Amino acid sequence: MVLPSLNELLVLGAIIAIGLAVVALALRALVARSRDLRLGSLVAVDAGASRLLRSSRYRISGRPDVLRRLPDGRVVPIEVKSRPSPARGPPPSHVTQVRAYALLVEDSTGAAPPYALLRYSDGGEFRVAWDANARSELLRLRAELDRPYDGRATPTRAKCAGCRWRNVCDRSAA
Ligand code: SF4
Repeated sequence: MVLPSLNELLVLGAIIAIGLAVVALALRALVARSRDLRLGSLVAVDAGASRLLRSSRYRISGRPDVLRRLPDGRVVPIEVKSRPSPARGPPPSHVTQVRAYALLVEDSTGAAPPYALLRYSDGGEFRVAWDANARSELLRLRAELDRPYDGRATPTRAKCAGCRWRNVCDRSAA
């Protein structure tokens, strides 16, 4: 019997690794597809300016990555993040962002979505409820934006070091 050379073994190993990667990608795509089918039909995918939702009533605008229509006609906004799922669940900024999309969908379609979705690069998905509590919390934050800055923010070296405004900010601690 002729034993394979080291080079042949390496090539075989590479082929097997590529094959496994392709299978993993295909499985992930299948899971994503079946998940999407449960969410109803595709309404829109962010493709530029045409996807922009505006609300003159709440004076906000936003561009959800994906909109899907549930079988009952309600539209669900989906935000796709390029980072993996946060270990402790979505941070408040992500939750606020999809809630704002839910409000925009509600205002523009006349029907409140039951929830909004956050998706992460590793396939993790979080359902963010859009109910009376979520709406009042979002509107409270929205009202805060209309108030003049009251100086409550506390600059820290760590926070300011990564801030794009640190070179022009007179409160920077970095
Ligand atoms: S550099 Fe200024 S704007 Fe940026 S985090 Fe610090 S205090 Fe805030």
